[in-house]
Amino acid sequence: MSDLLVNSEKGHISASARIPAIARPFVSERAARTLDLVEKFVEEECIPADAVYHKQIGKTTEERFSSHPSIIEDLKKKARDLGLWNMFLPKAHFSEGAGFSNLEYGLMAEYLGKSRTASEATNCAAPDTGNMEVLAKYGTEAQKRRWLDPLLNGKIRSAFLMTEPQVASSDATNIEMTITRDGDSYVLNGQKWWSSGAGDPRCEIYIVLGKTAPNHTDKYRQQSVVLVPHNTPGITIHRMLSVFGYDDAPHGHGHLTFSNVRVPASNMVLGEGRGFEIIQGRLGPGRIHHAMRSIGAAEKALEWMLARLNDPAKKPFGEMLHKHGIMLERVAKSRIEIDAARLAVCNAAITIDESSAKGALKEIAEVKVLVPDIMLTIVDRAIQAYGGGGVSQDTPLASMYAQGRTMRIVDGPDEVHILQLGKNENKRGKAHKRRIEAQIAKGKRLCEEYGVGSKDILQLDRKSGEASKL
Ligand SMILES: Cc1cc2nc3c(=O)[nH]c(=O)nc-3n(C[C@H](O)[C@H](O)[C@H](O)COP(=O)(O)OP(=O)(O)OC[C@H]3O[C@@H](n4cnc5c(N)ncnc54)[C@H](O)[C@@H]3O)c2cc1C
Repeated sequence: MSDLLVNSEKGHISASARIPAIARPFVSERAARTLDLVEKFVEEECIPADAVYHKQIGKTTEERFSSHPSIIEDLKKKARDLGLWNMFLPKAHFSEGAGFSNLEYGLMAEYLGKSRTASEATNCAAPDTGNMEVLAKYGTEAQKRRWLDPLLNGKIRSAFLMTEPQVASSDATNIEMTITRDGDSYVLNGQKWWSSGAGDPRCEIYIVLGKTAPNHTDKYRQQSVVLVPHNTPGITIHRMLSVFGYDDAPHGHGHLTFSNVRVPASNMVLGEGRGFEIIQGRLGPGRIHHAMRSIGAAEKALEWMLARLNDPAKKPFGEMLHKHGIMLERVAKSRIEIDAARLAVCNAAITIDESSAKGALKEIAEVKVLVPDIMLTIVDRAIQAYGGGGVSQDTPLASMYAQGRTMRIVDGPDEVHILQLGKNENKRGKAHKRRIEAQIAKGKRLCEEYGVGSKDILQLDRKSGEASKL
């Protein structure tokens, strides 16, 4: 057994053997085999390749945002040869993917989340995944052939442009970019930021949310989505935004302006006023993908932590770290939290598979909030175990922390989901009040019936001075 794969003293316990018991009945034999291939591919090929990738990107800003590390193309070829391609498109809703369910892909995405290169190597990287789902679900045949096919083939990349610097974009009704019909065209004006992927020279298509009817009385019918080729005149990429100092090159996060950007009217997706519907439909499964990748990252952080705890060269106060009880407690808590979070994500994925993203709103929101929180706690514990090394470039932990922290903001900040969950939960408040009151009343009636009286058993009714009689 190769040291690159082994994960226990007794040898390698494969990914398929570690599928949670609750999820096992929902995983086909083919998916279980593929899961093992994904694990092997990530551990043996992608994680070692990450080091090459980071060096191939280059040093200067110019180099970093114009490079395409050749190792990615080598990995893509290996992945395709293994049949590891487009696993993310769920079979119940799309015919274009590899034929797996959300749950089956979710289990695979966990492994992809352990490596910088793995998602792109298997053509399962965000934001392309969500963008491909939009095109597959809502695109016309012409839009699919022009943009979906090259995306499915990994020939180009894409970006999703919703967020704007001048408004609170977590509420999409605030979006201000204008999309104005002019003859056979639409003309776009405004600015966008956090346009992830826009830095990559291979990013050829922007999926843009703007307003076609800013004065529509229904504020959820004001928005539309149009497809804008990256080289359309009038677009300027001003700068790339950093995440805790990381530039995430060559993918990056762009700050762009659109000045009289003209596209054919046929680039409208689904129809004017349907933008809100599209962004809602886009985010459901994407959140499961993020969550499962974050579980993989948390698992990786725990593995790094265990490696440090068992490093004989590092003995603070004369003992290896695993001899210090506080460290074992952190390991145990991390194990419990990862396993619990994985079950929550599996449950959300199964619920989507059995209904739709709409039918799993509660479960998706739960994991959207739960998983990044757990992942950050575990990465933080691992960082602590490494001391100064933990916050440096010598471990992947610092960049994992930066990445993980953004998960509490991207696809809608925590508060939006928490508020929605809280509101929905609270809808049951009146029914609970009625039921609890009815149960108390029935309890009192039963006490009378059984002759035990309804008086509180702890009732003393003691007057001053009476206690001494006892
Ligand atoms: C790394 C990264 C990648 C991203 N990629 C993309 C991308 O590809 N495309 C894209 O369009 N966008 C992208 N975003 C943007 C992201 O989706 C937005 O930042 C997010 O939706 C929040 O919008 P905002 O930044 O405008 O914050 P605001 O809407 O101004 O919110 C600021 C804060 O207000 C609080 N808040 C918001 N709503 C409520 C509420 N209801 N109750 C209480 N408090 C609330 C929250 O604390 C929130 O963080 C990315 C962001 C990051 C960090």
